Amino acid sequence: MTDWVEGRVIEVIRWSEQLFSLRVEADLAPYEAGQFTRLALLLPSADAPSGVERVAHAYSFVNPPNAGFHEFYIVLIPGGRLTPHLHRLAVGDTLQLARQASGFLTLNELPAGRDLWMLSTGTAIGPFLSILAEGAVADRFEQMVLVHGVRWGAELSYQSLIHELMARWPGRLHYVPFVTREAWPEGLAGRIPAAILDGRLEQAVGLSLQPELSQVMLCGNPAMVKASLDALQSRGLSKHLRRAPGQVSMENYW
Ligand code: NAP
Repeated sequence: MTDWVEGRVIEVIRWSEQLFSLRVEADLAPYEAGQFTRLALLLPSADAPSGVERVAHAYSFVNPPNAGFHEFYIVLIPGGRLTPHLHRLAVGDTLQLARQASGFLTLNELPAGRDLWMLSTGTAIGPFLSILAEGAVADRFEQMVLVHGVRWGAELSYQSLIHELMARWPGRLHYVPFVTREAWPEGLAGRIPAAILDGRLEQAVGLSLQPELSQVMLCGNPAMVKASLDALQSRGLSKHLRRAPGQVSMENYW
């Protein structure tokens, strides 16, 4: 059974009309960068005998585990059961969090490699920001690549953190934004899997994807995760499983 604890919102960051981050104080069990927990609210329900029901959804931590707060990057889903309520939360409001985190998209689960590619869409950049900010990734990999695919340029959130991280490891952290629905000078056009297949991603970074050197983490839109896995498999990389180590670790974000 889930052990729920109360959390208090200490900051709300509004990136766009639909994208926001909640910073929360709560007494959670220790977790690793890349893991997720569940956020919940008790909402009125005509079906529940008590008149309220707990509505919960999984969200990855964006913060490094030692941050002293917990941060979640969220997209408002109009008409959704939970996100319109999360979107209305303000500093001082309370919510519930599962005390115990879960998830295997962590550094400890990755086999060795020279280059780590972190490919995300939308709010699923969160776990990669946590892994990068935590820092141990730089002891494990020589080169790190952070790829973020969004519809519109304004959805490229967390720019100042990303630039801080790039300054921390000059020449070792490569950031590649993809913007699909408008021309965006600082980004690549089109979708991530297509750019794996036609070589544009490797060209943009200046590194090549190869089974001997590369580890790849995929997180985001399930269709992107699947199409990227297919593209990577066509390049000779295989899915990483504990019983059969490979190069591609993945998490569908919804
Ligand atoms: P998104 O549709 O995932 O778009 C993000 C990026 O992924 C876009 O650049 C998009 O390209 C690309 N993409 C979509 N399908 C792809 C595929 N098959 N292969 C490669 N790339 C692909 O959406 P979002 O802007 O992050 O979020 C919008 C909606 O997604 C939300 O309103 C919600 O409905 C859903 N969502 C749900 C959850 C959840 O937890 N339930 C979480 C996040 C998002 P195109 O512009 O070409 O489509």
